[in-house]
Amino acid sequence: MDNGTQHNANAWRQTRHQLPEVGWTEIMATFSIVEHLKSLNGDVSYGKTFIDTKSRQGMINEQEWDRAAERAEENGVPASFIAELEQGHTGAVIQFDTGRSGPHVAYRVDIDALPIKESKDAAHEPVKNEFQSQIPGAMHACAHDGHTAIGLGIATYISEHLQDLIGRITVIFQPAEEGSRGAKAVVNKGWLDDVDYFLSGHIGIASLAVGEIAATSSEFLATTKFNVSFHGTSAHAGAKPEEGCNALLAAATAATQLHAVPRHSAGASRINAGYLNAGSGRNIIADTAELHGETRGSTTDINAFMIKEARRIIEASALMHNVDYQFTIVGQGEAAVCDEEWKQWVPAALQNSRLITNVHASMAVGASEDVTVMMNHVQKQGGKATYMIFGTPLKAGHHHPAFDFDEKVLQTAAAACLQPLVTQIWTASEEK
Ligand SMILES: [Zn+2]
Repeated sequence: MDNGTQHNANAWRQTRHQLPEVGWTEIMATFSIVEHLKSLNGDVSYGKTFIDTKSRQGMINEQEWDRAAERAEENGVPASFIAELEQGHTGAVIQFDTGRSGPHVAYRVDIDALPIKESKDAAHEPVKNEFQSQIPGAMHACAHDGHTAIGLGIATYISEHLQDLIGRITVIFQPAEEGSRGAKAVVNKGWLDDVDYFLSGHIGIASLAVGEIAATSSEFLATTKFNVSFHGTSAHAGAKPEEGCNALLAAATAATQLHAVPRHSAGASRINAGYLNAGSGRNIIADTAELHGETRGSTTDINAFMIKEARRIIEASALMHNVDYQFTIVGQGEAAVCDEEWKQWVPAALQNSRLITNVHASMAVGASEDVTVMMNHVQKQGGKATYMIFGTPLKAGHHHPAFDFDEKVLQTAAAACLQPLVTQIWTASEEK
């Protein structure tokens, strides 16, 4: 990729950074992605042809969609396009067919933002260069603005070099990665059913120099995201407290006791109660409470243990305070393992790259990633999958209000993704 592409990638990233949209509301992002993809030599799909309606997890409500739609219209997205997304069918895919026989290679990037208020610190690069978030309470604090730019760069390169390539190439722009909610809805639409090579990755993770990458990654945590609604009975806190059933206390008891689930000897586990909202006033026994939490495990079994214990504690807390509760799973991620072959393929493909200076065989993610659902699907059908790490110095951690990265990583990431495609994978498939 040349300097012009780097310039475009930075501009794409900065536009997305200014207009962050949380999962299932990525209307402006989808519009600009689709607009660009339509100018390329491939087949573009979005809306209900891209996303399986029933497999969407952690769906937003109608008001959230309407708010996002209104904002998108204010920012120039035509109402007809918003209608095509049919409430929460965001993201897009482009498929290229070279017309020559060869493997099917798929790339996946994610496009959603986080409900975080961005730092106003004058030293924060997006503030300094005036591309900070224009959307109150939302921020690209996990580099998915950068991932979107990388995806557009990859698709553009493929389109321009279709004559030199063989087989088929698919580039997926996945919505709702945060909270592990969107991958299943893409997989269940069949986009990855016959993929031979699957590549994805993340900017950052650990603070590295630009030019350093990891060919594969390890330690993906399986995860379950859940919401609990407690329903009690309200009563006058002074006159008749004995007639109340306190949903606030049930939720508070559950929150503290969830953190008392014992650790598992077979590997890493996590638990968090991250959101709690209850009651309506100081002199009323609270009849409602809403708790959002998550469990994680280094294997699917450990996560299953964590969620089983969590459910038992929630049930017991409700029983203790004589209230009803409703438990809903709103997101699920699996554990996954990258195929070993990439540890040879990637460094071999990049050995003459002027952009990539150091290729680590593998790096630990130590977090959850919705991509695991895609990786496992590809591998189950005999394909080879990897998840790379694209190095950049980090001033603040992921999901932090001052998170930022060096935009030069956009170019190294695109090169890291494309070079194995144009060299190693082809050689490997010719050898088969
Ligand atoms: Zn992320």
